[in-house]
Amino acid sequence: MKIHEYQGKQILAKYGVPVPRGVPCFSVDEAVAAAKQLGGPVWVVKAQIHAGGRGKGGGVKLARSIDEVKAHASRILGMQLVTHQTGPQGQKVRRLLIEEGADIRKELYVGMVVDRATQRVCLMASSEGGMDIEEVAAHTPEKIHKVFVDPERGLTDREADDVAVKIGVPAASVPQARAVLQGLYRAFWECDASLAEINPLILTGDGRVVALDAKMNFDSNALFRHPDIVAMRDLDEEDPAEVEASQFDLSYIQLDGNIGCLVNGAGLAMATMDTIKLFGGEPANFLDVGGGATTEKVTEAFKLMLRNPKLQAILVNIFGGIMRCDVIAEGVIAASKAVHLKVPLVVRMKGTNEDLGKKMLAESGLPIISADTMAEAAQKVVAAAKKA
Ligand code: ADP
Ligand code: MG
Repeated sequence: MKIHEYQGKQILAKYGVPVPRGVPCFSVDEAVAAAKQLGGPVWVVKAQIHAGGRGKGGGVKLARSIDEVKAHASRILGMQLVTHQTGPQGQKVRRLLIEEGADIRKELYVGMVVDRATQRVCLMASSEGGMDIEEVAAHTPEKIHKVFVDPERGLTDREADDVAVKIGVPAASVPQARAVLQGLYRAFWECDASLAEINPLILTGDGRVVALDAKMNFDSNALFRHPDIVAMRDLDEEDPAEVEASQFDLSYIQLDGNIGCLVNGAGLAMATMDTIKLFGGEPANFLDVGGGATTEKVTEAFKLMLRNPKLQAILVNIFGGIMRCDVIAEGVIAASKAVHLKVPLVVRMKGTNEDLGKKMLAESGLPIISADTMAEAAQKVVAAAKKA
């Protein structure tokens, strides 16, 4: 789950990370009132969307008067902000952060992710912070320093100080940088984050260390422990199809292709997408209906896939283990009738009561193409999508 910058800053502030004073706003009037409340002489008007690269996309603007705050807020609020993370269609700006302008002497980068190989939280830090960190990672990776944190000890003073010095924090500011790095680590750890990034972390003219940006993502499997973080969820920023899927306990991710996949089990769903690609097709989605694929769930799954205008064929690939194939067949038949299915449907079923399930599909009168193996199913659905 993702949150906005201003929410990330609220969390970081609780962990002792200094952030500029700022106020989230939903309208131009609120933005003007916030600027007056903060006081000048310099403000920054910042678009709040769940994507980075806002500065380069025109979503972060400096203002030197209340009139300028008003002008920037009017222009940014409601705009379709395009950044390298939003895709070409961009993301509509519905919230702003009005912040006091900081006196930036140097922009640094610090971020944390879970490193799978070492099974530890990896702290990454660089002296080259700001809007071009992707370039730094691509062309001068030696400028990014890493620490793999021992979960027993947490980020030690020595590790934090060492990183701070490596990224060019002057000696007088090292204790502050240590507090920021350790606060960031504790926030990451205690909130079950999957990503926490401050870019830029700045050194101010008077030697303070301040987080000017904040990005946090959370492990959705741990959200049950964090109702306060769940409350920060902004559904406007999420794909409506994926939001709806989660309400029916379906794991759905929209992709770019034209072949819908309805599968039980994430592993089989991945293998199904691979097989479709192997035979020259492109999956339109990932969809795992889980173990208990009831008629209701299968119907919702069909509806979700069919909302995608690119969809040209569907492949249902089910392994009947505890779930019996005849129950699945019943679900597929009921669902395809309920949604008046107009695209070709290929069904492959294996496992318990397979023969009964196949017989039910054959006798349903629906134009269902059946297949026996994964390869056959994938070839048939690729062919069907090409014809459509
Ligand atoms: P993004 O990473 O989405 O581009 P940032 O929050 O990092 O957005 O803002 C982009 C740039 O704008 C920063 O690198 C910094 O130079 C400048 N900036 C952001 N917030 C402030 C602020 N409060 N005061 C001064 N400059 C800021
Ligand atoms: Mg940034």
